[in-house]
Amino acid sequence: MSAEIIYGDQLSQTLRDQMKTELANLKKKGIHPKLTVILIGDHPASRSYVLGKQKAAEYIGMDSELLQLSSETTEDELLSLIDELNQDDSVNGILVQLPLPTHINEQRVIEAISPIKDVDGFHPINIGKMMTNQETFLPCTPYGILTMLQMNKIDIEGKHAVVIGRSNIVGKPVGQLLLNENATVTYCHSRTTNMKELVQAADIVIVAVGRANMIDASYIKEGAVVIDVGINRLEDGTLTGDVDFDSVKEKAGYLTPVPKGVGPMTITMLLKNTIKAALNQCSHE
Ligand code: NDP
Repeated sequence: MSAEIIYGDQLSQTLRDQMKTELANLKKKGIHPKLTVILIGDHPASRSYVLGKQKAAEYIGMDSELLQLSSETTEDELLSLIDELNQDDSVNGILVQLPLPTHINEQRVIEAISPIKDVDGFHPINIGKMMTNQETFLPCTPYGILTMLQMNKIDIEGKHAVVIGRSNIVGKPVGQLLLNENATVTYCHSRTTNMKELVQAADIVIVAVGRANMIDASYIKEGAVVIDVGINRLEDGTLTGDVDFDSVKEKAGYLTPVPKGVGPMTITMLLKNTIKAALNQCSHE
């Protein structure tokens, strides 16, 4: 069996074209959703992610601005900038690109962003709403993964999903979203002792670790859905996921590639969250 490949770039294109039309209609009504991205320092991967977000916003006709700050920026300076943006009615969504320099407390920064402008979905209030299955901004990567499954009409209810990785931005929330969709969810992490056995029993496998090609076909049940979140740069400069694509594609039912898989969906969901933020904010004016 050869897996059906889920191309996130193609799904994203469809969604971005829909948002382009939606934005044009909103602008006619005087609603101009705007995303402000803060980038601190010049971490090359962060810069490339931020540029990808700017380019996608531009494509759909969304107003976006990039505030580039030096790596010497203090935590107080960053917090007061966030405070200004929280008060600025022309800004609907605020994203602070992570990771931050070590002298800045990441959690304090996340909590400083107004929950109504938290389009990354990292604020504890929004995480709490997600946990309790309330309407909120879903974190972009997990939201993108869920959307990929839904757009491919993949059944989640009653399935056994194994999530490898338990970070606050990917692993934990993606497991929660699958649980909200009535999957039975197991988490694996660096201290899990019987990971292979658990993954072999999974109908849906989400891999978010950051170790090139760690999951090969021997972990995968015939026909399973395999979503590869990992982004790893090899010595020759090429990008690869956490899943050994060539072997797993012969066994899985569905598989996402890296690149052109989860990555573009993450950006697309950020745009979706920003439109939602603008709509929520104008309905409360
Ligand atoms: P983190 O480093 O925060 O988390 C990695 C997780 O993997 C941890 O929970 C860790 O366990 C677990 N882990 C590490 N080694 C093993 C192992 N040998 N066996 C099982 N679990 C292990 O990473 P992120 O969640 O932020 O990102 C994961 C990957 O996804 C990275 O490659 C990142 O670049 C990529 N990514 C891609 C995005 C996209 O849009 N495509 C967006 C965000 C991230 P423990 O908790 O015990 O330490």
